[in-house]
This record gives sequence, structure tokens and C-alpha cells, in this order.
Amino acid sequence: MWNVIGQPGAVELLRHSLESDRLAHAYLFVGQPHVGKTTLATHLAQALNCEQEMPPCGLCTSCLRIAAGKHADVQTIRRLPDTSSGEGVPKKEIAIGQIRELQQAAGLQPYEGRHRVFIIDGAEHLNQESANCLLKTLEEPPAKVLIILLTVNDARLLPTIVSRCQRVELLPVPAQIIEQELIEHWQVEPDKARVLSRLCRGGIGWAVSALLDDKPLQERSLRLAELQGLATASLEQRFDFAARLAAQFNKSRDSVEEILRLWLEWWRDLLLVKEGCAEFITNVDQDVALNQESKDYSLTEIRYFIEAVRAALEQLEQNANPRLVLEVLMLSIPNREEERTKRPSA
Ligand SMILES: [Zn+2]
Repeated sequence: MWNVIGQPGAVELLRHSLESDRLAHAYLFVGQPHVGKTTLATHLAQALNCEQEMPPCGLCTSCLRIAAGKHADVQTIRRLPDTSSGEGVPKKEIAIGQIRELQQAAGLQPYEGRHRVFIIDGAEHLNQESANCLLKTLEEPPAKVLIILLTVNDARLLPTIVSRCQRVELLPVPAQIIEQELIEHWQVEPDKARVLSRLCRGGIGWAVSALLDDKPLQERSLRLAELQGLATASLEQRFDFAARLAAQFNKSRDSVEEILRLWLEWWRDLLLVKEGCAEFITNVDQDVALNQESKDYSLTEIRYFIEAVRAALEQLEQNANPRLVLEVLMLSIPNREEERTKRPSA
């Protein structure tokens, strides 16, 4: 059974291709973080190697071993940890050596299953060299081998790689579906389910990971406090912050983009509150703070900053100088303190 939440289109496409024996040699799953790309890839690998009649059953030895990451024929390739940058930090790129190993393994017969499956998680991290190396395998795919590339953004991949894969887009999962899923299958309290389903922005994996570990929620509180601090900070403090963020960007662009998306959401919420549409906000657990803060800014200021964050994200995507982009963004944060002095009654 395909147990992939909120992706009926993608599941149907793969299921149909599998049943009619028309599976592509390579797939490219495109979608935002935590939307279900890994889950879908795991299900496809299980379906190809399942021992039961209705694959993937999820219960046979093969399905269980794939789910546990122990199946000899299913491998995931992602950036190796960067031991010089501390725990949990991956290297900047997927190295060519990793792709050469993939090629070697792809030339061998399946060991315990019927198909060898290689999942490249974070394909946007393939550098020119490793991408070109992978291209050779994509151009002459060995029999009984399936390659699945996962990416948050296929515009960051070589067009020659993209054109060799069948593209499958995973859309953000609607909040209502996530809310229902959390209540029914994870026994989450309705209030908490509502908050998490909004905060995860369609990435159900984020909501589930926030259930098991407080870290994502703590990280968010920290980031929001930081953002509020910037609104009253001096120019020098803002530029210091921009420098730190730019250094972080060079190590992990995803984490910085994540921060900016959080800012964008917060300010969109301020706009919604200001315009009297508070029922549509994302940060549902912060309605009091949003209501209070929205009084400190004019509609024009809020719109202006939303545009500034959007522009910054776009420029970073187009590989503009991160320090410069972030410094300009710092200058765009409306000054909350100034506003307060202007309207001391607020
Ligand atoms: Zn099975």
C-alpha cells in the first residue's frame, strides 16, 4: 500500500507506470523540504522489490529492510558529514567519489532483491564534476537499476540531468489533511495539530518531526525572537547579524533561506492581522504577539518589507553576493522603536 500522505497525483503516476511495466530509468522528485520525497522514493524502492502480490506491502522482509535502510540493493547518496564544521553539518557538495561508487554498484546484479535503487537525496548538491559523472549512468542506464533524484529546486540542477529524468512534482500538503492526519494517526491534541499543520507549510515531515523532538519549535522561537530584536537594533548590530548570516549561507544556504521564509511568513501574518484577516495566519499560536506588533507598523511598511524579503530570496537563488543581499535586507527592516516614539500611545 502506498502510504504517502497528500500526494495522490505522484502516487498514481508511479503506481500506474509500475503496473504497466513502464517505469522510467530515472526519476526526479521535486518538492519543498519535508513534503514526502524520501517517503515516496522509499515506497517506489519497496514496490520494485516487494515479495507480495500488491506491492509495496510494507510488511514483507524486503519492504521492512528497505524502510530500515538495511537492504543491500537500495542505497541513499547524500552529502557526507563535514567533520571540520561540527556535528550534523554536511559538506557543501556531493563528491564525485560518491557517484563513482554508485556507478560501480549499478554495474552489479541485485544482491538480495530484483532491482537496485539509488536515491540521491539533495541532488542540487551535485557539483559540476559529480553531475557529469552521473550523467554517464543516466545516458546508458544499466538494466534493473533505478535512480531517483530528490531535490527542493530543479533549477539548481544541470539541464542535461533534468532532461534525462522523469520529473515528478510533489505539492505542499494542504494544512487540513495534515491536521487530520496528526489527530487520527499520531493522536495529537486538536489544538497542537492545528498549530503544527499551519507551521509546517505543507511539509508534513516537519510536523511529525516536531512531535518527536522539540528542536524545530525551539529553533523557530529563537528565530522569531531574533527577528523581533532586529526591529529595534542599531544599524551596526544589524550589519553584524547580516555578516553572520552570510557566513552561515556559505556553509548551508538552505538554513538561511529557511530563516528568510520564516520572516516572510511572520510579516505576511502581520499584514493579514492588519487587514483584519487574522483567521488566515500561519503562526496561529502567536496571534496575540502578531496583533500587538501589527500596531507598530503601517500597511505600507509591512508590504515594503515583505517585498524586500521576497527580493532577497530571489537574489540569493540567483547567486547574488549573500553579504550584500542580506545587508540591503537589514536596511529594509522598518524601525519599530522609531514608530513607537512617533506614536507613544501604541
Ligand atoms: Zn513487501
